[in-house]
Amino acid sequence: MQSKSWLKAGLFAAIATAAFAATPARAQGSLVMYCGVQEEWCRAMSTAFEKETGIKVAMTRKSAGEIYAQLKAESSNPRGDIWWGGTGDPHLQAAEEGLTTEYESPANKDLNDWALNQWKAANKRTIGIYAGALGFGYNTEQIKAKGIPEPKCWADLLNAKLKDDVQVADPNSSGTAYNLLATVVQLMGEEKGFDYLKALHKNVSQYTKSGAAPAKAASLGETAVGIVFIHDAVVFAVQGDPIKPVAPCEGTGYEIGSMSIVKGARNLDNAKKFYDWALTPAAQALGAPAKSYQVPSNKNAPVPAQAPKMSEMKLINYDFVKYGSSAERNRLLAKWDKEVKALP
Ligand code: PLP
Repeated sequence: MQSKSWLKAGLFAAIATAAFAATPARAQGSLVMYCGVQEEWCRAMSTAFEKETGIKVAMTRKSAGEIYAQLKAESSNPRGDIWWGGTGDPHLQAAEEGLTTEYESPANKDLNDWALNQWKAANKRTIGIYAGALGFGYNTEQIKAKGIPEPKCWADLLNAKLKDDVQVADPNSSGTAYNLLATVVQLMGEEKGFDYLKALHKNVSQYTKSGAAPAKAASLGETAVGIVFIHDAVVFAVQGDPIKPVAPCEGTGYEIGSMSIVKGARNLDNAKKFYDWALTPAAQALGAPAKSYQVPSNKNAPVPAQAPKMSEMKLINYDFVKYGSSAERNRLLAKWDKEVKALP
């Protein structure tokens, strides 16, 4: 008798344990994530969140301008829940156009002011998750072979010996390249900024879709110079490739990588869970092991040792509100298409 009841109790405990263990994966539903950073970091985030919550994540990596365009195209029937990562300008534009929704996370109290400023500017519809400065990376061997001085400034990229040897992304698809467009306009003034981009066009071999692609091309010697976020060039420098990251001497712009919840998200509660989790120090610490060296927005998150020191750079006072506004972003992109990309 005694042994039978022991067996029954044991069986019950085993079934209960199995049921409990199975609960998170079964009952927590799903989340559709549009991810704007490098694939490796996107995967690290979605896997860690799934593991922690049992919520199944369907993740797609795209460039920031593409995600914005997708949200706009899907606005009458939203498919995405959370847009995580990518430069802040298109997040701000989406906020202004009502493509994303308000949220206030309990984690806000732990964030740097620059992250909260995005949130305030967007009426709570987007928030800063990391920061990084714009610059370029050059292939040291290629520059040496050309016999030209090592480029240190934006002006150096106009050297005729760099003809067809500079790569940068297309600002329509890429948040990085829009950041460049807005940076030169703010740094040089609109007329001189466009003159600069037209002159640079002579040296550009191709406008890539993704913003970070030119860093890889420069690290492989497929191009002499790649205009990218500096941390994207650091990725290849730290692994020993012949690429040198540069913070341009005239000064440069920077991004506030952002996160927004899609308006009309089908999995709104899960989007909020992801949002809160993504602002924690533990989640923000997942960037560095995935070779992403931005500065995290949570004050308590570790800053990767490899992160470029923004405090030592000459940074412009980037006007995120203006250059993230719908009218200004649309205007500058149309002007760039007409006056720069259309050039032979
Ligand atoms: N890669 C990294 C590491 C970034 O920080 C960012 C911008 O947030 C991007 C890529 C942006 O990608 P894209 O220019 O393709 O929109």
